[in-house]
Amino acid sequence: MTEQVNLTEQLKHYFGFDSFKGEQESIIRNLMEGNDTFVLMPTGGGKSLCYQLPSLIMDGTAIVISPLIALMKNQVDVINGLSEDDGVAHYLNSSLNKSAIEKVKGDILSGKTKLLYVAPESLTKEDNVEFLKTIKISFYAVDEAHCISEWGHDFRPEYRRIRPIINEIGKAPVIALTATATDKVRTDIKKNLGIVDAREFKSSFNRANLFYEVRQKTNDIDRQIIMFIRQHPGKSGIIYCLSRKKVEELAEVLKANDIKAAPYHAGLDSATRSQTQDDFLMERIDVIVATIAFGMGIDKPDVRFVIHYDIPKSLEGYYQETGRAGRDGGEGICIAFYARKDLRKLEKFMENKPVAEQDIGRQLLQETAAYAESSVCRRKMLLHYFGEEYDVENCHNCDNCLHPSVKFEAKDALIVVLEAVAAVKENFRQEYIIDFVKGRATDDIVSHKHDNLEEFGAGEDMDAKVWNPVIRQALIAGYLKKDVENYGLLKLTAAGKRYLKNPTSFMIVADKEFKDDYVESAHE
Ligand code: ADP
Ligand code: ZN
Repeated sequence: MTEQVNLTEQLKHYFGFDSFKGEQESIIRNLMEGNDTFVLMPTGGGKSLCYQLPSLIMDGTAIVISPLIALMKNQVDVINGLSEDDGVAHYLNSSLNKSAIEKVKGDILSGKTKLLYVAPESLTKEDNVEFLKTIKISFYAVDEAHCISEWGHDFRPEYRRIRPIINEIGKAPVIALTATATDKVRTDIKKNLGIVDAREFKSSFNRANLFYEVRQKTNDIDRQIIMFIRQHPGKSGIIYCLSRKKVEELAEVLKANDIKAAPYHAGLDSATRSQTQDDFLMERIDVIVATIAFGMGIDKPDVRFVIHYDIPKSLEGYYQETGRAGRDGGEGICIAFYARKDLRKLEKFMENKPVAEQDIGRQLLQETAAYAESSVCRRKMLLHYFGEEYDVENCHNCDNCLHPSVKFEAKDALIVVLEAVAAVKENFRQEYIIDFVKGRATDDIVSHKHDNLEEFGAGEDMDAKVWNPVIRQALIAGYLKKDVENYGLLKLTAAGKRYLKNPTSFMIVADKEFKDDYVESAHE
């Protein structure tokens, strides 16, 4: 059937666009042929169109599951604006009153409504399920599908109920979409949505126009930020802080320095928040100081900088948040301030969470720390984190590439590490391996009797600072891999095994030195 549909014509007809972006067309065809479809595309790649266009063409109503009520309204308005009919798209969520719900149901039953946005908690409501059972559903779209995984940056338990509910309502193809692409999250999504055979469409996550930099966080941070903003007058930017309190404080500091800034966090009332959003979009203010509550679905194409005042909790979160810069393809400067103290503070916050969650949280934090402390190309590290190989010697658009560190030979250290990983049967994590090669007889090592192994302490005469960078760069080079499924255990890859048989030069860069001289302001 889809051969007969000229999708480009339909695209022009409904959206006014002349051509598809990236793989949009193949994605839409795959879905229209009745197949489960999995779309991994970075922010700004054009995911929404992948379900909006087919829903308008196909028979029945598409159910779009989306986590954000504010976003839904926005999208519904856009779709209805396209066709000048206010019934083509609707949403069902807790904000609707009885008569509004009746109108939505009436429009669906009359066949007018092609897209129905629902929040996961509304999808699971008994009477909604009963109603949806009676209608023809073209397909289900699960937006922000990473919310289903504890390994994503925004886990929502309600997402786990989506598959059972779909089975109850009635089967139809599923299209899952996300801008988060780590292997672990990908497998989780497919498993939990029951679409293990879905065809995957993955675009590159490289955002070539974004400049990445990590700065040591010192007590000079506010002044550095003010200077940066003054050097970019009139440019729009977002500054992320972890706490609401810091958001308020920093916004005050900026305002006192004649910068048009405003705070944004979930503790502010919704009128104030939408006013701030409008002011930012209309450029009445330049800088938003925000918690991560700000940004999902903000489509301001010319955000010129994103600053992280505090270290983000995960690299995925970092990628999403920085992704809001330079959506139009223009300049986007991303600066993260890093202090080891912040890591410990974040670890402390996690202490009252369930053990499994703490463990995941700690691993994610360690990845961020590794990113911050390394001298390797930032882009290479970010893309590696998303399972993408970036084989460029110098990206010319990150601090580490603009100021490359001198490389040194780490062949011997690499051999020691790889042999250690093999000696302990690929069953231990990075920290354990480092203790092992250094010859530290920790309780853990003694209890496994690994201090008796020949390889124990094989690197005790080498510089202790070499181990973290060697392991991280061996991961990037593909000699080692981390089994994220199992607490981040280090494993040898086939390339790693080959290396041991025939070792060659392994040039690496040392980590950066981070001093701990950042002190939180007294009243925090
Ligand atoms: P994502 O959800 O992946 O972040 P969106 O769906 O919000 O991306 O799309 C990003 C922008 O690209 C939007 O402004 C959208 O209108 C635009 N867009 C999407 N597809 C096309 C296309 N085929 N041609 C031109 N613009 C497009
Ligand atoms: Zn680089």
